[in-house]
Amino acid sequence: MANTPTRITTDIEFGRQGRQLGHLRLIHSDNRHAFSVIPIPIAVIANGSGPTILLTAGNHGDEYEGQALLHGLLRGIDIASIRGRLIVLPALNYPAVLAAARVSPLDDGNLNRAFPGDPDGSPTSAIAHYVETVLLSMVQGAADIHSGGSATVYAPSVYLHCGGGPDLLRRKLAGARAFGAPFTVCARATSDSRSMSAACDRLGVPMISTELAGGGTIDPEALAIGRAGLMRLLVHFGVVDGEPPADHRHATRLVSPTGPASSVMAPTEGIFEPLHGVGAEVRKGALAGYVHPIGELERPYAAMEFAHDGIVLVKRVPSLVRRGDYLYRLACEIDEKTLFA
Ligand SMILES: [Zn+2]
Repeated sequence: MANTPTRITTDIEFGRQGRQLGHLRLIHSDNRHAFSVIPIPIAVIANGSGPTILLTAGNHGDEYEGQALLHGLLRGIDIASIRGRLIVLPALNYPAVLAAARVSPLDDGNLNRAFPGDPDGSPTSAIAHYVETVLLSMVQGAADIHSGGSATVYAPSVYLHCGGGPDLLRRKLAGARAFGAPFTVCARATSDSRSMSAACDRLGVPMISTELAGGGTIDPEALAIGRAGLMRLLVHFGVVDGEPPADHRHATRLVSPTGPASSVMAPTEGIFEPLHGVGAEVRKGALAGYVHPIGELERPYAAMEFAHDGIVLVKRVPSLVRRGDYLYRLACEIDEKTLFA
């Protein structure tokens, strides 16, 4: 670790036992501060021997369930229940979190498209590089908690990047079942190599990501699903000793988006009136919603239909839409065997 080139330093001693609260200090120079650091909050809780697990939220700054979950975890967890080490970063792309934005205002950087990163690159790229080369090199498991962001809301889901080979995929699936969200979205390994999930696949780290709800706020039901699921995952990983909580546990349904036909797009600009919420089961040809033209009362509204049967996985939040905006995304239930075919 000492030889890893990075411009991030920290007051945290990763080898120390006990509870430490501190910062990763990313050196950054811009118009506001010629010489300054970006102080990314980090906690390390270590107690005895056991696995090291990385927990992150705020990878996208406007996704709040995970941020609240990790703050709550840090407040509530009893260090005596830890067997190993938790590394917790509730605001991983800190500038994006402060800006209430998906991407960093410093460089327009989408952290989940910045891996493996660059130690000499933009702030977002330097964070990605530190996560991949320093933090992930220390861990035996990870969870990166996402939600839908300001523009979308998801049916509460675990999100699995199905790469890394069959053994790693089996370990991730076991983690997803322990988490017990209503749905587990299985994304093809080819989806993107620049995500944190792909970084974990490269390093052989079993990693669970989520899409809990979103919409630029915190959904209490999704938060409860996430809180119980995360604790079950920590017990499953062996880093927390105790009984896994029994509440908000679902026999998770494996689903997969079905390509371009899974998306319903706005055919014109106007006001989107949805007819279904996330998690709804819909049929091919069913009315999905309407787009009402704003300034031309004589024009008929546009009615959209679903192209196939499925479950509403994602719904757009802002009602004002333009032609081409995604309004819904459907997923279909899949058999676990198809993931290993
Ligand atoms: Zn996200």
